[in-house]
Amino acid sequence: MFKINDNYQKLPGSYLFSTVAKKVNAYQTANPDKKIIRLGIGDVTQPLAPAIIEALHSAVDEMGVAETFKGYAPDLGYEFLRSAIAKGDYASRGTDIAADEIFVSDGAKCDCANIQELFSLDSKIAVCDPVYPVYVDSNAMAGRTGTYNFDTEKWSNVIYMPCTVENDFVPELPKETPDLIYLCYPNNPSGSTLTRDQLQVWVDYANKVGAVILFDAAYEAYISEADVPHTIYECEGARTCAIEMRSFSKNAGFTGVRLGFTVIPKDLKCGDVSLHSMWARRHGTKYNGAPYIIQKAGAAVYTPEGKAQLAQQVAYYMNNAKVIKEGLKDAGYTFTGGVNAPYIWLKTPNNMTSWEFFDYLLERANVVGTPGSGFGPSGEGYFRLTAFGTYENTVEAIERIKKL
Ligand SMILES: *Cc1c(COP(=O)(O)O)cnc(C)c1O
Repeated sequence: MFKINDNYQKLPGSYLFSTVAKKVNAYQTANPDKKIIRLGIGDVTQPLAPAIIEALHSAVDEMGVAETFKGYAPDLGYEFLRSAIAKGDYASRGTDIAADEIFVSDGAKCDCANIQELFSLDSKIAVCDPVYPVYVDSNAMAGRTGTYNFDTEKWSNVIYMPCTVENDFVPELPKETPDLIYLCYPNNPSGSTLTRDQLQVWVDYANKVGAVILFDAAYEAYISEADVPHTIYECEGARTCAIEMRSFSKNAGFTGVRLGFTVIPKDLKCGDVSLHSMWARRHGTKYNGAPYIIQKAGAAVYTPEGKAQLAQQVAYYMNNAKVIKEGLKDAGYTFTGGVNAPYIWLKTPNNMTSWEFFDYLLERANVVGTPGSGFGPSGEGYFRLTAFGTYENTVEAIERIKKL
């Protein structure tokens, strides 16, 4: 008789975005004439840039010719893409990540969820609170997080590092020593960042206590301030304590195309076992590789045309962020973010809970955002708006919010 993985039963029921969708659907059904504007979901809206479309077309044509047809992709990804990444994302930032330390994947979400497989089941994880839910959920499914308390909305065996207005959204070093530290900067949902010096403190700490930092840099392309690092390897000593996850979703619109990568430096070791060789083993066994066509499209991101076109897309979204910030400021809201990330994180007015404010915005302004409490207990009383909509919708949504 088979048995199931009981850890799945411990996960709290409904996922944030399914509850949001249910509420929006119910409201729209009851009010079919209302135009609802979504400033909630972390998905892009701009179409793929011409340089990427061109690369996709030519790769498709190659697949139809015997001489240039490609079957299974190499385990770590095609050399042309890994070299483009090493040069464009790492050498250009003065860091020494080699092409063979890069593992191409079908997106950062899978990597963020799967990376915990490298570590012992009794590893203790630390996460910022609030944060992207994938880190905790994947560890919960693996059985690493203890029991879930529905009152505190916390797992018994997770170290939560609150990031709130009080500490300017910068987590303090934990009192209890973790084995794995998940950091996401620029942060989803708060849009906050760490400076290079602030991140260096974490790298020093991890090396000192023998922890690994799992650094999610999905929003790297949105960084506008000079003292915010684009990669954790800008910090000294990161090669011996940090893994970095990156995505083509938010910088190049690949949310439906699927491409990402993970960096594991060869210096990152547990005794004499290298995590790089473990992940290579995993890739060889459990991973099919991102398709050639998609990896070709990914390489186009690093061409001069691709870079210029994508910089325009990022600028488009960040202009939306400006519209949101200026509107919220006029309306008297307190908020952070929108400078190095496409997210604006606001404090709900009049001590409303996150879900109360969600309902209020939906019903009074027909605007959909994301309740902060869905990203962790310290997100209660906060609310996320995203700059990923169209300009026209963003302007209209903000006009409505200003009239409330
Ligand atoms: C969107 C997002 C990802 C997921 O990226 P994919 O490559 O689309 O899987 C990873 N991390 C964070 C913080 C994100 O917001």
